[in-house]
Amino acid sequence: MSSMSGEWQCTECNSLNAVHEDFRDDETGHISECLDCGFMDVYREKTDTGKIIEDYQGHKHYYNNEKYSGTSLLKINNKDLKKNGWTVVPDGVWFGIDYAESHKTNVLALLTDLLNLDTDVEGYNFLVCAYKEEKDDE
Ligand SMILES: [Zn+2]
Repeated sequence: MSSMSGEWQCTECNSLNAVHEDFRDDETGHISECLDCGFMDVYREKTDTGKIIEDYQGHKHYYNNEKYSGTSLLKINNKDLKKNGWTVVPDGVWFGIDYAESHKTNVLALLTDLLNLDTDVEGYNFLVCAYKEEKDDE
């Protein structure tokens, strides 16, 4: 196991609603993030050369920035997902369901089609990462 997650107390606001991860694979370091005030403490260095990739403490880290194209390293992260046995759908798939029509929709059948799932298994777990309210005028 090359990475370890745990609880963390924010050094800025003392909130316990914060997470901490130590990792050591091709990079060594830690990431701490306060889920209340958004403070992040990030340290990453190359394991082989010891070269510092990133050393940051503050509230404006790019992981918290909407323009950053990935997702938070502590939450939905492709590498961590794969490590935990999830199959990542690189381009994602989307589908919509109306409450009025939902009784006609078999979500598992829909996802089986969308993802070309193997049906010779007991079932699947899904991880939902986004949703949007359907508006009448769209
Ligand atoms: Zn905080």
